[in-house]
Amino acid sequence: MEQKKSRLLRLTLMGGQARVFLCDTTEMAQKARDIHNASNTCSAAMGRMIAATAIMGAGLKSEGDRITVTINGGGPAGPLCAIAGPDGKVKVTIEHPEIELVRKPNGKLDVGGAIGKDGQMTVMRSFNFGEPYVGRVALVSGEIAEDFAMYYLESEQTPSLCALGTLVAEDIVSAGGILIQAMPGCSEELLDALELRSELFSAMSQLLRDMTLEEIVTGCFRGLEPEILEEIPLQLTCDCSREYIERVLLSMGVEEIEDMIRTQNGCNVHCHFCRRDYSFTGEELRALIAEASAGEQPE
Ligand SMILES: [Zn+2]
Repeated sequence: MEQKKSRLLRLTLMGGQARVFLCDTTEMAQKARDIHNASNTCSAAMGRMIAATAIMGAGLKSEGDRITVTINGGGPAGPLCAIAGPDGKVKVTIEHPEIELVRKPNGKLDVGGAIGKDGQMTVMRSFNFGEPYVGRVALVSGEIAEDFAMYYLESEQTPSLCALGTLVAEDIVSAGGILIQAMPGCSEELLDALELRSELFSAMSQLLRDMTLEEIVTGCFRGLEPEILEEIPLQLTCDCSREYIERVLLSMGVEEIEDMIRTQNGCNVHCHFCRRDYSFTGEELRALIAEASAGEQPE
């Protein structure tokens, strides 16, 4: 079966009374499962996280702005983290991707059990210029969609309906999500209509398995004047590079680097998002220090 390209649609309802972000992230969830060699439960957790963070990223204003979401619930899978930008690029990692739990009595993967719910979700918005903005909410269930909805309600005072889904069999069958936000001045009529239809979205992964995004828009928002404003292509990709790792090493300070030269004659840096390894010999580290101190001296 050929996989659909991951993408996100941004739309409005009833002339802007509500806004909607809807995405299909099946291909990205599969890639994350492969990179991290993840269990079914952790694949579902990452799949939901990818969709939610891609949606948040799509709400950012300028190129270079970034959203970093960390969910730390104290569960056996450890912290889950994803980073996204307005360009549709997302990366994700989970501390223990191998953790598997038995399915819940309703047959669903126990994402909340793996992530845990005794902790926080932290959302950091960093901008090209200026200080980052950090928001935190206590976790509701560790099931991710409810936690995101709580974040939007508490820190942005925006009533939001958030549904995320990842259907896992041998491979990822479907993954994606939807966020619906009532804008100020939204009519009671529209709120009621959305409330009535919210049940539809609880089966998000089935909708995404059976329909295209456009079919979901027409099918689920019939009579609510959906208007698609923008389509953003999405991609799971890591922006790490040797130059980036060099900057990270330098930010640790010369003393720290000299210590690595002395004790291990080099170092190995592992990127948690793409699982690439970068190794530096003692000589390369020495050259790095020399280059940095040369750059600091005025001509
Ligand atoms: Zn990387």
